[in-house]
Amino acid sequence: MKTEVQENLERIRRTLPPHVTLVAVSKFHPAGMIREAYDAGQRVFGESRVQELQEKARLLPADIEWHFIGHLQVNKVKYIAPYVSLIHAVDSLRLLREIDRQGDRAGRVIPCLLQLHVAREETKFGFSVEECRRLLQDGEWRSLRHVRIEGLMCMASNTPDAERVRADFRTARVFFEELRSTVFSDEATFSKCSWGMSGDYGTAIGEGSTMVRIGSSIFGERA
Ligand SMILES: *Cc1c(COP(=O)(O)O)cnc(C)c1O
Repeated sequence: MKTEVQENLERIRRTLPPHVTLVAVSKFHPAGMIREAYDAGQRVFGESRVQELQEKARLLPADIEWHFIGHLQVNKVKYIAPYVSLIHAVDSLRLLREIDRQGDRAGRVIPCLLQLHVAREETKFGFSVEECRRLLQDGEWRSLRHVRIEGLMCMASNTPDAERVRADFRTARVFFEELRSTVFSDEATFSKCSWGMSGDYGTAIGEGSTMVRIGSSIFGERA
């Protein structure tokens, strides 16, 4: 018998093109539900709190790829640096430097995405296109040998207006293409576009997403 989580997962997987990675966002849901998804073949999970990730990583199989998708505080990087597979929401040079430092200590290169602020809301984290361009033109990040910038991440405006959402994703995609043909033209690893959640992943894929972060459509509403 399949569980509800497994049925949701399989239904969503059937709709995703093969080049799109599904990050199952398990934040606030118990390890047992992650295990159900794992048993249905899911290996990539997203969490947004360091302590919660730590606890789950201890309980669950070692071949899970843990993605950190939330806002990451500089002083907490050290806890996840040894094993995190991808940090989605890098939103400052200071954070990038600390990830580099902790990657060095852990003896590894940590894959990261830069978070773009494309939504209308004031409260969301992330670089504006201008800030991000400036950060990348100023070459300091190139000297950080223990982080690798593999793409961009964003969240669209929180609105039922599908055209607004589409325009936000498109802004991110256009900027991604610009970076890929300029700053990162020699780096094939700059390849990831992390956009799309339960409510908007179809639109996101239409606007070039290669990685969708889906929580409630798999695991149900969060408490
Ligand atoms: C919680 C969260 C998601 C998943 O949201 P759903 O609407 O439950 O799919 C995706 N991305 C980020 C950054 C999140 O914090």
